[in-house]
Amino acid sequence: MYTNFMNDKKFMEIALKQAKVAFGKGEVPVGAVVVYENKIISMACNGVEERKDATCHAELMAIRRAALFLKRWRLTGCTLYTSLEPCVMCAGAIILSRVDRLVYGAKDLRHGGDGSLISLMREKHPIHKVEITSGVCDEESAKLLREFFYERRKEKDLRRIGDISGGKIDEDCGKDSS
Ligand code: ZN
Repeated sequence: MYTNFMNDKKFMEIALKQAKVAFGKGEVPVGAVVVYENKIISMACNGVEERKDATCHAELMAIRRAALFLKRWRLTGCTLYTSLEPCVMCAGAIILSRVDRLVYGAKDLRHGGDGSLISLMREKHPIHKVEITSGVCDEESAKLLREFFYERRKEKDLRRIGDISGGKIDEDCGKDSS
């Protein structure tokens, strides 16, 4: 575990960069990378809003791209890094695509498939067992998500105020007390 730590951090920082790309596009900031033989073979950020598709999570897109790159759907030998605990859908895809190892950052209390909502990947599975490391750069990931939802709440509040005052926004009114 210890020997992987520096590598895990290095690749997670790239997943976090992808999460920041998502943030910039107004997407929930989650990023993922797939590493094979110590090299990045795919990366993706959350694309649900842009593609109008609820399945376009960073992990799923990174898995699809890795399979295209390796020209095989079995991602044996691969490690998936994602800034947020995979949801139940992505956890299922990780098992089905035979990813060897999963490394993730923050916990996703609403949708997490590694125990937060349901524990999918740690159950005894007849075909595949995923090795899991959690909590890598979790604070940075959680901070990014908090900032994103804070901004979004602020925008919503501003829109509401805008509606009431006929589209004119008073800057001081945008302050969020929460
Ligand atoms: Zn997901």
